[in-house]
Amino acid sequence: MADDVATLNSLVGEIVDLRSAASLLDWDAAVCMPPGGVGVYGNNSATIRRLAHDRFTSTQLGECLERALRQIESLPPDAELSRLVKVTARDYDRAVRVPAEYIAEQAMATSTAYQAWKEARERSDFAIFLPHLEKIIALKQQYVGFFQPLDHPYDAVLEDYEPGFRTSDIETMFGALRERQVDLARTIQNHPRSEDAFLRASYDEQVMVNFAREVISTFGFDWSRGRQDKSAHPFATPIGTDDVRITTRFDERNPFETLFSTMHEAGHALYEQGVAPVWERTVVRGGASLGVHESQSRLWENLIGRSLPFWEHFFPLLRRRFPSQLQGVSLEAFYHAINRVKSSFIRVEADEVTYNLHVMPRVEIEIALLTKAIAAKDAPDFWNAKMKEYLGIVPDSPTHGILQDMHWSIGLFGYFATYTVGNLISVQLWEKFTAERPDSSEMIRRGEFAPIREWLRTVLHRHGRSYQPRELVENITGSAISTKPYLDYLSIKYGALCGLPAGG
Ligand code: ZN
Repeated sequence: MADDVATLNSLVGEIVDLRSAASLLDWDAAVCMPPGGVGVYGNNSATIRRLAHDRFTSTQLGECLERALRQIESLPPDAELSRLVKVTARDYDRAVRVPAEYIAEQAMATSTAYQAWKEARERSDFAIFLPHLEKIIALKQQYVGFFQPLDHPYDAVLEDYEPGFRTSDIETMFGALRERQVDLARTIQNHPRSEDAFLRASYDEQVMVNFAREVISTFGFDWSRGRQDKSAHPFATPIGTDDVRITTRFDERNPFETLFSTMHEAGHALYEQGVAPVWERTVVRGGASLGVHESQSRLWENLIGRSLPFWEHFFPLLRRRFPSQLQGVSLEAFYHAINRVKSSFIRVEADEVTYNLHVMPRVEIEIALLTKAIAAKDAPDFWNAKMKEYLGIVPDSPTHGILQDMHWSIGLFGYFATYTVGNLISVQLWEKFTAERPDSSEMIRRGEFAPIREWLRTVLHRHGRSYQPRELVENITGSAISTKPYLDYLSIKYGALCGLPAGG
């Protein structure tokens, strides 16, 4: 009998190669493509993605998959081969529901929508983007139709990014977080604030970039299997386990963004670099979900990178690089400044306390648009009302409001909730690690990160996509994904920082 799993692997391997090539083109477009190359890139990318979709949904692959499923019946469900074939089958079942013409139409719609969004954002004019948003919503409504029956239409788009999560789970999660986070943000902002103007002094770009690179080198970012470049928006993209690329940017108004976003992207990259080689050239290579991925970036950026022990180690080094900017600034003052809580318009600049309050309005708008509870033209008012309700502020322009994120323009619907899921998981993993290693603060204070990275690699990274996110988190932490650890973490950290009464 022919080895059907081996045949399946060779078919899928080529599809994974095509997808990697498409990722490499995306990286190139964001990092070094000349502006005139946009048309060439568009054609190349569309062709490669169409080929990958055609091959993945082909009858040949479907038949081979069916035989492979029969072949693994006798294996334990946890065996590597079983998990490999099951993940492939799950992806296949979703992919074949979506017709190729739909994919082409969406690619076309989003490429023009992205250009319109850029112009709308530049001119702060929502009307420019409106017809494109309407088109994208109509496409998403059509997409939902491919996945019926569903408990909730939004389940169809959520499943693409957070497998196993339902709209009701997200609503329950938000319900538990909303009031507590609104209260906490309000209470903190009613307290007197410490000085943080030194964070916005003039810092040399190259010195800051180099410092950030040193930090992520100590985290264990492997430069022989990764690189860092500049782009308009920081991102991490895996071409394969042995080629993981991150980007950064430097904003003179906010020089420390370079450092924190580098730690963030390195968290994503460490995950990708840590996937077991056995999953290379399979659909299992990569992260379990966007939420699990975000748990890694937030863990390194916030739980470690904004902690006091971390800065006990790094602040003297930072001050040596920037002696004039940080002259007379104490460790304590610096730690307070980088953890300042302030309602702001922009999600990517939000602190830990207000971050989820930026996520919620976006998800609520998506659900309302998808279910036709509101029309696209009413989305800006909805947005502003939610910002007022949760953060107490109303954006001064559409650019600083509804037009700030590119997600909808490139067709990403159902994505935003994963940021909050990631925040929750990051704290649950960290609680588990610190319970196992009571000396974790000492370790960080010494600048020793290998034990953290190796633990994450062992319990999480190496598994790639072979487990569903909820199963994975439960296997590691012994508990379901929950809001309580995150809320407790915020209360304790920010209570101490702001001198709030215990439990405040
Ligand atoms: Zn991220």
